Formats: sequence, C-alpha cells, structure tokens
Amino acid sequence: MHVRKDDIVEVLTGDDAGTAQSRTTGRVLRVLPDKNKVVVEGINRVYKHLKPSRQNPQGGRLSKEMPVAASNVLLYCSTCRKGVRIGRRYTDDGRKERYCKKCGNSLGMLSKARKAYARKS
Ligand SMILES: [Zn+2]
Repeated sequence: MHVRKDDIVEVLTGDDAGTAQSRTTGRVLRVLPDKNKVVVEGINRVYKHLKPSRQNPQGGRLSKEMPVAASNVLLYCSTCRKGVRIGRRYTDDGRKERYCKKCGNSLGMLSKARKAYARKS
C-alpha cells in the first residue's frame, strides 16, 4: 500500500473528488490492505437515517465514511501542493523514507536507522 493511517491524501476520483483548482484532501482513518481500500476522513460519507426510538426519541441520521479504492487517492505533497506518486529510498544513516517522485522531498520515515542500510563513507 502506498498510504498509511494518518497520511494526508488527495482524493482523485469519485463523488468527493476535487479539481485541479480546488483539490480535495483528507486524513486516512483506516487502511484495508486485503481489500486495497482506504477510509478517508470526510470522504464517501454515507448517512443512515434513524427512526425515533426510545433511546433516540428525536430520530435523526448517523454518518460514517465508507472505504474508497486505494488507487483513487495519492499521498499529498505539501511542496507540490497536490497528490503525488511516491518512491522509497534509504537515507545516509540507514532509515527508510518515502519521497515525492516529483520534487524529491522526503514525505516521512518508514523505519528507524539500520546500520545495514547506512551509507559507508
Ligand atoms: Zn513534491
């Protein structure tokens, strides 16, 4: 999966997708790797209407986010100001990081420093 929980992603396709002028971004709440789906805050929200009941005399509606296909979201790069494709690489001290394939900026660490991957100088 190219995104993780708590990532900020751009939503590319679907009812909640933005445009190049106004991009839609949201935080990843949940990743469902076996289904290749992600749940993004505020995206693909569905409402369940409730009849008034004893616990809930007013009735009303509940909303929750439904999963969207992981391929419809891209990790958001704050430098490029849009969703971008990512690569993975090792830093000089042996940490694994994600980076933006467009501008080359780091987009966060994936692992702690490991000597085996550190660059020897
Ligand atoms: Zn970038």
